Amino acid sequence: MLTALGQSDRAEIRRIDAALARIAAGDYGDCVQCGNPIPDKRLQLLPDTPFCANCSP
Ligand SMILES: [Zn+2]
Repeated sequence: MLTALGQSDRAEIRRIDAALARIAAGDYGDCVQCGNPIPDKRLQLLPDTPFCANCSP
């Protein structure tokens, strides 16, 4: 099953893993770049983003 996953799927799993780690650490919802809170509307759209709109690459 895992071998059927494409590269983009694995990247997505890594992003979700990182988001889960931030939830566990209590950092979820804060931008990792500037430390400002990420607006709820953006988190609903991109639940696994670690960046606010200003810092998004
Ligand atoms: Zn930011």
